[in-house]
Amino acid sequence: MLWIDLTSESAREENLDSSIYESFIGGKGLGAYLLYRELEAGIDPLGPDNVLLFLTGPLQGLPAPNVGRWTLVTKSPLTGLFLDSHSGGAFGRELKKAGYDAVGIKGRSKRPTYLTIDDGSITFERADDLWGMGVHAATRTLQEKNAKGSSVYVIGSAGENQVRFAVGCTELAHQTGRGGAGAVMGSKNLKAVVARGTKKFSGADVDTIREINRAVIKSWNKKVDYGFKNYGTAFLVEFASSMGHYPTRNSQNGYFDEYRRIDPAIMEKKWGLGTHQSCPHCVMKCTRAYKIEAPDGSGAEVESTVEYETLGLLGGNIGVSDPQAILKMNYLCDDLGLDTISTGGCIGFAMEAYESGVLSDADIGFSLRFGDVDAAIQLIKMIASREGIGKTLSYGVRAASVEIGNGSESFAVHVKGLEVPAWDPRGKKGLGLSYATAEVGASHLRGWPATLDPPSESAVDVVASMVAARDGKVLTDSLIVCHFTYHLPLPHEQKIALLNAATGFDYNESSISTFAHRIATLTRMFNVREGISRKDDILPERFWEQQKDGPRKGMMAFVDKADFEASLDKFYAIRGWDSRTGRPTNDTINALGLESIF
Ligand code: SF4
Repeated sequence: MLWIDLTSESAREENLDSSIYESFIGGKGLGAYLLYRELEAGIDPLGPDNVLLFLTGPLQGLPAPNVGRWTLVTKSPLTGLFLDSHSGGAFGRELKKAGYDAVGIKGRSKRPTYLTIDDGSITFERADDLWGMGVHAATRTLQEKNAKGSSVYVIGSAGENQVRFAVGCTELAHQTGRGGAGAVMGSKNLKAVVARGTKKFSGADVDTIREINRAVIKSWNKKVDYGFKNYGTAFLVEFASSMGHYPTRNSQNGYFDEYRRIDPAIMEKKWGLGTHQSCPHCVMKCTRAYKIEAPDGSGAEVESTVEYETLGLLGGNIGVSDPQAILKMNYLCDDLGLDTISTGGCIGFAMEAYESGVLSDADIGFSLRFGDVDAAIQLIKMIASREGIGKTLSYGVRAASVEIGNGSESFAVHVKGLEVPAWDPRGKKGLGLSYATAEVGASHLRGWPATLDPPSESAVDVVASMVAARDGKVLTDSLIVCHFTYHLPLPHEQKIALLNAATGFDYNESSISTFAHRIATLTRMFNVREGISRKDDILPERFWEQQKDGPRKGMMAFVDKADFEASLDKFYAIRGWDSRTGRPTNDTINALGLESIF
């Protein structure tokens, strides 16, 4: 791996022992190990001591399905906790071709800088002319300045201004979406990392990898009239609405009566441009692009690539059903470098605060009702530039509600500081437990219980399935395979076969289960070191209110609080974590081979 110190503008390589790869594999697992090893407890996520870890994964570049993604691990400035964020584009492939499984960046540059990593040659370039530039312009400028084939990972002004939920972006369409890695970049005066390499990829048994690849592509090609294939994740608007998951007016409900206007078939027909630059080695190509009028008023047409999460948080969650308006806000967030989930969460929170009288015209500078697109656009710009109420919101809804007070904490929709994604947990039995216990806060990518049932009865019986699904995600994120491969399908046992074929290790179902448990316990210990305990594994008050109408009318996240606590007890018991404190027990730590780390 490569270590870069921005303070001294120096670089060095570290050879990781094979036993480290065997225990932590790569991606999330290796990132968790390195982050725990490198950081002292309590360091400022926006100080020079924080580390940005870029991980490429053991399958990167090999002829396996949907493995062209990469992982960023850091301490989140939004939650103050462990953060792993997973992105696409060609950036991971280029880092791996440059020769690295991981790149760690520490320190802080004295002035705006961008880094180039070109086949092991590292340069520190001045970025004064790029500072203040939007993601679109900065990406194009850096692509022109650097060698053909370079991949650019860049932040916008939100990252420069250290908005706590700022993102970084590659190829204009792939973000490290959640938790504020873009703000960590900004705090280091690091505008961009440009990567390029020419090294060849190798694996222990490439023939087996090819064989699995052929089989899954064949099964994908057989699918016809399949929502994901036709529309990417936009097809989920209807599904989420039918299950009471679709976030509506700051999650006051899980059903938006105008959701049919956000119809992916109509969006494709009217504005669809097909797929935008998908991740390398992807047959599924989910990244759908649409043409919109540029938000700068120039009259030019630009591309906006949108996902379901954005259609939820910048759609129903702020009372908007006009797809062009959502695409426009999405483009703006992408250019400024803002997480659309947290941005939509913050705007929905502010709209509810305004409509309930907690915030006034004088506090905001204008009226801010649900459905007001112009006001939402104004607020997005104010968040990125941290002006007025935008500054308050730039810290996320948890901090904003503490500052605003007046009861606004009761409708601040977050877990551990991370705004809730576009899946209202009142739509599914036990989903709330996944949000309450995920190490990063409310994420929709940390394993769901295996049920379609509503939370109308005890969730205790689905806890084990949620833990199993979470373990599957740990493997997926450590191999760094796209989460959407369940559509291919690429089952768990084939992922293990791919891992063994790439590395020459001999994992099986049981040792992979131990591996996933090890990583879940390691990330928990990182958070315990930061002060997290059972008291923090909770849900926002909003999800203890009944849904008002729609398919899950009358539902709360659990039948009652006692059932949530019983489900949490079961979760800790399965994990081998102390049920009183939520801390992994010493027996668990020893059984997972983690005793030398803590
Ligand atoms: S399905 Fe989408 S996110 Fe997954 S690898 Fe393909 S383009 Fe990337």
